[in-house]
Amino acid sequence: MKADVLVIGGGLAATWTALAAAQAGGDVVLVDKGYCGTSGVTATAGVTHWFVEPRDHERAVAERHAHAGGLADPEQALRVLRTTWERLPTLDRYYPFPVRDGEPDRTNNVRGPEYLRAMRGLVHRAGVRILDHHPALELLLRPDGSAGGAAGVRRQAGGNWQVQAGAVVLATGGTAFRSHLLGSRGNTGDGHLMAVEAGARLSGMEFSNYYTLAPAYSTMARSMTYLFGTYTDADGRVIELPSGPDRNRVLGAAMLRGPVFTTLDRAPDWVRRKMPVVQPNFLLPFTRRGIDPYTDRFEVTLLGEGTIRGVGGLVVAPDCATDVPGLFAAGDVASRVPVVGAISGGGSPNSAWAVSSGTWAGRAAVRYARGTKASPVRPIGRAGIRPGGRPATVDTTAVIDVVREELNAYDKNMFRDEAGLRRSLALLDSLWTDVEAGLTGTGRDAVTARETASLVAMGRWVKEAALRRRESLGMHWRTDRQEAAA
Ligand SMILES: Cc1cc2nc3c(=O)[nH]c(=O)nc-3n(C[C@H](O)[C@H](O)[C@H](O)COP(=O)(O)OP(=O)(O)OC[C@H]3O[C@@H](n4cnc5c(N)ncnc54)[C@H](O)[C@@H]3O)c2cc1C
Repeated sequence: MKADVLVIGGGLAATWTALAAAQAGGDVVLVDKGYCGTSGVTATAGVTHWFVEPRDHERAVAERHAHAGGLADPEQALRVLRTTWERLPTLDRYYPFPVRDGEPDRTNNVRGPEYLRAMRGLVHRAGVRILDHHPALELLLRPDGSAGGAAGVRRQAGGNWQVQAGAVVLATGGTAFRSHLLGSRGNTGDGHLMAVEAGARLSGMEFSNYYTLAPAYSTMARSMTYLFGTYTDADGRVIELPSGPDRNRVLGAAMLRGPVFTTLDRAPDWVRRKMPVVQPNFLLPFTRRGIDPYTDRFEVTLLGEGTIRGVGGLVVAPDCATDVPGLFAAGDVASRVPVVGAISGGGSPNSAWAVSSGTWAGRAAVRYARGTKASPVRPIGRAGIRPGGRPATVDTTAVIDVVREELNAYDKNMFRDEAGLRRSLALLDSLWTDVEAGLTGTGRDAVTARETASLVAMGRWVKEAALRRRESLGMHWRTDRQEAAA
């Protein structure tokens, strides 16, 4: 199959990318590992966008960047605000924003399932060819090193697929390292690995340890209401929490000592009334267990979000081009450090970034594709696809379990020190050696093999970056270097 632009992914960023590329006149194919409209971390939750009146843009950026650790770029953040202001109203006809003073209120939380269903409809009507259950495994490069398409497997129909394209946009999301965060199972860092194999760079990978509260034994991470909780230990002693990002660090430290419980007893009436409307799935785990979260005490846990509401990813230029000609990146697969610095991109900038980076990447990819000529391509995937040694049996479940432990355990990724980081890195390096040398697979096993390789690669990059940043900064917390905390 041939196209001007191939979009890899089917979530928020991929759909905004495909829409922009089609509106710019491109012939677009979108391939999703899952079903575009239900896959990815927005579809299962919901998001609030960084949607600010233009007259307040500079103030909004200054407020955010006051805590960004000096790493953010105000001009890039302003561009995000301007493009989100321009693009989000596209949704008005397809998503029922609440109306305030006669106008759609786009600052509200947007329910994920309806948002992504609307985006799929928009993309479909714009003429994009959507290939569901078509995970991409590797990029195709032209002889000059530029990206000319991708290849993968057809998970349901069987067999392989290949799309040759003038330009490729990666919108494969971040990874939560299989922490069981709802919606994140397919987010395994595949796009990062594909891009790095082609020569792209990463940045901010140390900012990958955002954790979010959820009821214990549940995957439902909707954090806002937890601001109104009273937290206690197993003996019922109240745990005093500071405001700001240190809250989760105090809770993480308490969870290392024993179970932590909460009652959301301080939630105001307006929050209790609004929750079933704006975040209906937040209540499901409680309803199933017969718990009233506002009066009953229940155990909580912290789920790792890795690079999802952490911010590391591929380095991109203002038009979302990576270092590889013809290869663009949008959404969580790209670094959001220029937009938010060393702090989380959650709570509204990330989704505004998905809208704006998708718009820029889609438009730039069409422009790039117009300047390309038909040329032979070759597949370049290595780890998990073409082993460097003899194919060998690698226990992918065991490998992924190690990655989960090293990247999600609070004492290993929330609280970091040099010795622990070195231990983790050595362990991941040795797994990488096995994966690179022997792991491969066909059909669905090819997907598992590549996901395993991507998770190990992502884990190594996180630990390496965390070792190199010797000071504590933003969400990167070095217990051996607290004196330099931002
Ligand atoms: C609980 C929760 C609440 C959040 N709330 C907010 C909020 O209020 N405001 C905010 O700004 N941000 C919020 N975020 C973050 C926001 O959801 C993400 O930034 C946003 O979803 C990123 O979109 P994306 O398209 O880059 O990634 P995703 O939505 O995760 O989509 C990734 C897509 O890539 C596909 N994919 C992956 N690998 C492959 C492959 N190999 N081949 C083909 N397809 C592939 C997946 O199937 C999926 O469709 C929240 C996140 C969570 C988890």
